[in-house]
Order: sequence, then C-alpha cells, then structure tokens
Amino acid sequence: RFQRRVRACRYDIDQFTPNFLSIFDSLVPSEEEIAKQNQLVITLSRLINKEWPNSKLYLYGSCANSFGFSNSDIDLCLSIDDKEMSKVDIILKLADILQAGNLQNIQALTRARVPIVKLMDPDTGLSCDICVNNLLAVVNTKLLRDYAQIDQRLRQLAFIVKHWAKSRRVNETYQGTLSSYSYVIMCIHLLQLRRILPCLQEMEATCYVTVDDNHYAYFDQMDKLSNYGAHNNETLSSLLWAFFHYWAYQHDYTQDVISIRTGKIISKHMKDWTRRVGNDRHLICIEDPFETSHDLGRVVDKFSIKILREEFERAANILQYDPNPSVKLFEPY
Ligand code: ATP
Ligand code: MG
Repeated sequence: RFQRRVRACRYDIDQFTPNFLSIFDSLVPSEEEIAKQNQLVITLSRLINKEWPNSKLYLYGSCANSFGFSNSDIDLCLSIDDKEMSKVDIILKLADILQAGNLQNIQALTRARVPIVKLMDPDTGLSCDICVNNLLAVVNTKLLRDYAQIDQRLRQLAFIVKHWAKSRRVNETYQGTLSSYSYVIMCIHLLQLRRILPCLQEMEATCYVTVDDNHYAYFDQMDKLSNYGAHNNETLSSLLWAFFHYWAYQHDYTQDVISIRTGKIISKHMKDWTRRVGNDRHLICIEDPFETSHDLGRVVDKFSIKILREEFERAANILQYDPNPSVKLFEPY
C-alpha cells in the first residue's frame, strides 16, 4: 500500500511547479536593482583606485553567482598586491578611504575569520562587505554562475532550497547549519547525478586560474552546453521532491561525501573524513570544488545535524503528502 501511495503522490507533484515558479519569480532581483549594484561597484572601484591604482575590486557571492535574492547584501573582494602591508592594515586603511568618500556605517572587522569592512551607500541604500585577497571565492562564484547558465532548473531549484533554508532557519553557519554556498553545491550535485548538468571540472579545460600557487581549470564554454539537460524533462517540483528525499532518506551520512568536482559520490574513507579532527566532525560531507580538503559541512555539529535531518524529512514529507506544499514548506520556524 505504501508503494502505491508513493507512486500516486509522485505523479501528482508536477502540478505544483507553477506555484514554485511564481515564488522563484518573486525572489529574483529586478534589472533596476542589478544596475544599482553595478553602479556602486564602479563608484567604489574609482574611490579605492585613487589610493591603490593597481588594486581591483571584484563582485562575488550571491550578487555575482546568479543565486542572489532581491535585497541581498553585496559581497566584494579587493585584490591588492602589497607586500608591505598586512591584511589587517589593508582593512584599516580601506575603512579610512571609504570614510573619506562619503560612505556610511563603516565598520572594520579585523578580528573576524575573514576580516572585512562593512559599509552602507547612502545614495542607493545598499550594504556591502569588502574582504581582501579572497580570490578563491571569486573563482567559485564564476563556477556557480557558469553552472547556472546550462539549465534554468538549477537556478529555480537553488532559489527554492535557499528560500526554504532561510524560512526554516537552517542557513545559519554560526548556528551550525549550512551556508547558501553549500546548498547551491548540493543542488548542482543532484542535477549532475540526474544528467541535467555535466561535471565541468572533469571536461577538457578551457579556463585556467592560479590562486596562491594552486592551479585550477575547468570547461567554461557555456554556449556549447545549452542543450545538455534537454533529454531530461523533470519539472521543478519533481526535482525538489528528489532533493529532499535524497537528503532525508537516501544519503548515507556515515560513508558518503558529495563532490561536484567529480560529479559523483565519493567515500569519506578516501578523504580521511571518518573521524573528528579538531572542530571538523564531518557529520555531513560536502567537498568544496576547489579547496578539496575543505568539507563545507564542517560547521555542522551533533546538535545541528539532528535539526538539519529533521528539516530535510519535514520537507520531504510535505512534498510527498501535503495538499499545499508551496505554502507549507516555507512556514517560518
Ligand atoms: P546569500 O544570498 O545567503 O547571501 P551567498 O551566495 O552570498 O548567499 P554565502 O554562503 O554568504 O552565500 O557565501 C558568499 C560567497 O563566499 C560564496 O558565493 C562563495 O564564493 C564564498 N564562500 C562562502 N562559504 C564558503 C566556504 N565555506 N568555502 C569557500 N567559499 C565560500
Ligand atoms: Mg552573501
């Protein structure tokens, strides 16, 4: 009987796709907002270049990876080659430059894990965080943006998953749950397994970057991949169902690591992620596509893993049985 029930619900799930798509549309930033963000980057670049002519300001994170919601903060990275100054000195001087340039609410957070300057632009009302020489984040931003161009279902799925995670308060790394970056990687992985997305890092490389003497390469001619997922016609709601079922009932938390670098599931054993080392507990393992020794799930502890798995199960069950999943899924925690 259970089998029959599962099947009946599975076939029905597609009817909710229009509801999920309209939620997606409501979260996407407008052209006007994007233009404002770009204008602010130009203004800040001019201001900073006067003091540091060889520096370059990059937009990264959700405003540049195409997974950003309307009204999100802007993440910027200042690339600067100054052997004389420490990162903290650069942050402090940057704060002075911005102060002199009529920006507001400036705070230099020099003791954070990633030191940043925070600011608000009074003309646009936009808030930004600027970090220094964190170029790997600029590179992984491009990888995510490239994946998003291959099949529109990635962006739709990741927006809904991020919206669910924010509504259910499981997108808070300081509380031991996962970052937005991790959720997007989980979505890419699911679509790779379903052959809706390829594995760009396993294809012949067309783009090469070097960060801190490490070399990275992958295929980035996105115009050649625009039909890649066309043979698979799963709808957004069916993919959402698959996402939550995978993390609720199929993922093997004791053995498996998801890896978009290889497009596969690899073993914890192979990565030596089988036991706790320091604060890294490896209770849910998500390999960073570039810093492969970095488990994006390392923020998760024995309390937050329980919360996460309960939320995955709740979401899976709503998509399976609830008559109104596009409302119930996002009910505030
Ligand atoms: P949000 O819409 O929630 O602000 P976001 O895409 O800006 O989403 P964050 O998780 O805040 O996501 O991360 C910002 C950027 O920082 C990511 O796009 C990524 O480039 C980088 N990043 C974040 N966490 C990590 C990490 N653990 N390892 C490597 N890079 C990371
Ligand atoms: Mg962000």
